[in-house]
Amino acid sequence: MNEILGLHHVTAIAGDARENLAFYTRTLGMRLVKRSVNQDSPGTYHLFYADAVAHPGTDLTFFPWPEMAPAKAGVGLTMEVSLAIPGGSLEFWIERLESSGVKTGTLEERRGERCLPFADPHGLPLVLAETADAREFVAWDKSPIAAKKQIMGLHSVRLWERSLDDTSAFLTKVLGFEDLGADGEWHRFGVHGGGSGKFLELRELPETARGAWGTGGVHHIAWRVADLDAELAVRERIGAARRRPTDVIDRFWFKSVYFLEPGGALFEIATDGPGFTVDEKLESLGEKLVLPPWLEPSRAQIEAALPQLK
Ligand code: ZN
Repeated sequence: MNEILGLHHVTAIAGDARENLAFYTRTLGMRLVKRSVNQDSPGTYHLFYADAVAHPGTDLTFFPWPEMAPAKAGVGLTMEVSLAIPGGSLEFWIERLESSGVKTGTLEERRGERCLPFADPHGLPLVLAETADAREFVAWDKSPIAAKKQIMGLHSVRLWERSLDDTSAFLTKVLGFEDLGADGEWHRFGVHGGGSGKFLELRELPETARGAWGTGGVHHIAWRVADLDAELAVRERIGAARRRPTDVIDRFWFKSVYFLEPGGALFEIATDGPGFTVDEKLESLGEKLVLPPWLEPSRAQIEAALPQLK
C-alpha cells in the first residue's frame, strides 16, 4: 500500500484569469508551465503554476471562473494550501507580500515549521511554510524571486471534515497513509513518513455545515503515483471501499482517477508521467494555449472565447 508518493497538484477556482496569472507569476514568482483549458468545460482556462521543470508535487492549478460565487467554508472541503519555501526566507516573503499590497496573517509555528498565512487576490487561503525537508525542485531562472528564496512547490493541505474517523480510516486503510497524530485541533496524515509535499491535515467540525465550491476555494487535490499500474492498484482498493472511483481518464500530461473521500472532498490520483513536456519544449512551457488532441479541431472557437493573457 505504498503507491501514493505525495501531493501531485492542487486545483483551485480563481476569479479573473489575468489577475490570477499576475499574482502567481509576478508576486509569487512561480512559472506558468501550462496554459490550457478545462477539459470538461473548454470555455474556461486551466492554468498551471509550478517550478522550472514542472515536477509533480510543485503544481498549483486554477480554473478561472469569475462568474462563480465565492467558496463557502465548510466541511468536506480543502480549506488551505501550504507552499514550501526555504528555511530563512520568511522575512523576505513577509516584506514582499506586504509591499505588493497582500495582507498577511499572524506567523504561526506548526510542528517546528514557521508558517505565514495569507490569501491570493480571489480569497484562496494559502500558507508559506519554511521547510528543510528534501524536495524535488528546480529553481526558475526567469522568476522575479532569487533562486534561494523561491517557492518549492506544494507543502500540504488542510481539510475540514464532519467525521475524523471516517476520513482517517479511509486514508490509512485504503490509500496507505500513516496517522502522524494530532497537534491541537489538526490531525496529520502522511505517506512515506510524511514531510514536505507528503502529508495532509484534518480538522473535525461535527456541527459545521457542508462547504461549497466557489472562487477562492480548492476544487480538488491530486495524489501522485509512479505509473498506471500503481494507479490501478489504488483504484481497485478505492472501489472495494465503495468510493466509486471514475475510470482512468487521460489528462494527456498524466492519467487520472477521481473519487470523493468519505467526508465529501474531491480527490484525484494522478500518474507522474508523461508530464508537461510531452507537448511543449521545456524552454517554452506555458507560452501558448495547449489543447489536448481531441479539442484541437475546435481551437478557433475556444481561443475566441477566452480572455487574452499576456
Ligand atoms: Zn486535477
